[in-house]
Amino acid sequence: MNFEVDICIVGAGVCGLAIARQLSQSLPSSSVALIEQAESVGQGISSRNSEVIHAGIYYAPDSLKARLCVAGRHLLYEYCRQYQVPVRQIGKLIVAQSGEEDTLNRIADNARASGVENLQSLNASRIASLAPAVRADAGLWSPSTGIIDSHEYMQSLLKQAQANGVMLALATRLNEVRPEDSGKRLELEMTSNWRRNGAETSRVACRLLINCAGLGALDIAERLHQAGVATNQALPKIKWVKGNYFAYQGRTPFSHLIYPVPDPTGNGLGIHATLDMAGNCRFGPDVEQLAHDMNSEDVLDLSVNASRRDMFARQIRRYFPALDESRLVPDYAGIRTRVTGDGFQDFQIVEQQLEGCAAIHLLGIESPGLTASLALANHLAERISQQQLLG
Ligand SMILES: Cc1cc2nc3c(=O)[nH]c(=O)nc-3n(C[C@H](O)[C@H](O)[C@H](O)COP(=O)(O)OP(=O)(O)OC[C@H]3O[C@@H](n4cnc5c(N)ncnc54)[C@H](O)[C@@H]3O)c2cc1C
Repeated sequence: MNFEVDICIVGAGVCGLAIARQLSQSLPSSSVALIEQAESVGQGISSRNSEVIHAGIYYAPDSLKARLCVAGRHLLYEYCRQYQVPVRQIGKLIVAQSGEEDTLNRIADNARASGVENLQSLNASRIASLAPAVRADAGLWSPSTGIIDSHEYMQSLLKQAQANGVMLALATRLNEVRPEDSGKRLELEMTSNWRRNGAETSRVACRLLINCAGLGALDIAERLHQAGVATNQALPKIKWVKGNYFAYQGRTPFSHLIYPVPDPTGNGLGIHATLDMAGNCRFGPDVEQLAHDMNSEDVLDLSVNASRRDMFARQIRRYFPALDESRLVPDYAGIRTRVTGDGFQDFQIVEQQLEGCAAIHLLGIESPGLTASLALANHLAERISQQQLLG
């Protein structure tokens, strides 16, 4: 099967879905196809995260992560209200032990510089009243942090995108991308693989490719680069970093999200406690570096290694001394797609433009990608019109 569309979005995770919805609204006369290799939407990174709506506390001020998180949070709460997506603004406590107060102050300064104006400093007795099970000497209260049912959210985005005419192709994998000889279209080669019908190869010609393929995004960008299309900035190096979660069985000890001060190596936010919409508590994610040859979906192991329980218990006891380790059970793991380099690394949006066609690649979309999704979609819509990427 061969067809032509104006815009082809690859990857139906939360970013691809939010962008499909946005472009179907802002460019109503353009045809939009959304291509997903799995048999349903939202099965990639977007199905294995903490489902937290972040306030925007930790990212370098003025970075894409900071700006899109703060703007995206406002948009997401409003979206959930308007379209009845389950959400709870339960707030988050960042807790520090004696000697960590300076780190807490730096976090508060960073948050303010990023536009998060409502953090409140807490002493030990105020922490005890908000979270009696927590032991800490000082803390910060973030009232705008919340939790969301991310699957309901993605289904809602899909429903609206399809109502606006977006065509969805499931079980369809993009294998190759190259410019047509004329330079006016990109040619995409795809394989559809429904279990009952066998594999079928098709070619799609498009004027704009939006690559939201998560763990597969860099591979797609590299293919088009290797086909001779220059990028507006160097393609970053990406590593995959696993995040394991342990569920805490039985009664949930907290009513808010509880985070220690972040890992001083800058690797992660520390083993924190989150709640899901049903009120269950889980701890994580940790930061498990994967061997380089594990960076392939074919060999990816998403099981949780139970031997990490001791490390989890040690870290959690620092702020939750009554932890009952026997209630910690392996839950699930997710994979971050992280730009490599020293210090803070931002989301990367890389563009390639020919005479009549273009591609936009979303790379390194780790946390806060879920929170930022609606703002990211707006940002892309603006880029497309400013840069005249659709000609
Ligand atoms: C452990 C962990 C915890 C996180 N916690 C939070 C949080 O609490 N709050 C928050 O805001 N963010 C969080 N994030 C970040 C957030 O989950 C991601 O930023 C977001 O889900 C990324 O969405 P995506 O659409 O880019 O990727 P994905 O959801 O992975 O979507 C990409 C899609 O592309 C498809 N695909 C790949 N290659 C191809 C191909 N060649 N052809 C066709 N389809 C293809 C995949 O099947 C997949 O469905 C967390 C991330 C992790 C890993």
